[in-house]
Amino acid sequence: MCGLNSEVAYRQRVHRILQWPGYRVYRQNIHEKNKTLDLWVRRKRGNRRLECSGCGRKFADAFDSNERAVRDLPWSEFRTTVHIEVYRVQCPDCGVKVEKVPLLPSKAPFSQRFEDAVGQACESASARQVARRFGLPESTAGHRPPLSGAMGRQQAESGAPANGRG
Ligand SMILES: [Zn+2]
Repeated sequence: MCGLNSEVAYRQRVHRILQWPGYRVYRQNIHEKNKTLDLWVRRKRGNRRLECSGCGRKFADAFDSNERAVRDLPWSEFRTTVHIEVYRVQCPDCGVKVEKVPLLPSKAPFSQRFEDAVGQACESASARQVARRFGLPESTAGHRPPLSGAMGRQQAESGAPANGRG
């Protein structure tokens, strides 16, 4: 049973988990038994400018909308899933395209913050520990390419332009 105190604490935690600018939680569900926390978010009023993910063109009207589920940072032992309303636009250049959502950079079912957290954990723990901690199948964490910002930059530098210009 949820007492008043735990309800308040829970709401505070939800707000801490969900710091997605321009979005608000309109529905939430916590499953004590399965240890899952589900949040449904949609755009706040005034955040209705849709951007084509192909070319960046802005649209006022949506073609349609879809619900997408992304894994977000786990809270305590709860696995967090954020259900987000994602719109599609009818772009004259690109056709029907999904809108650009900064927090959903790829088609992977994880938010950017979640991927960052997994990446950081991977640097200090074995893939198995990471998988257990985030509730992922072991292969998911193991398959993550170990290409962090620093390494990527190093590679870019060592592979510096061979075309001597000037
Ligand atoms: Zn476009």
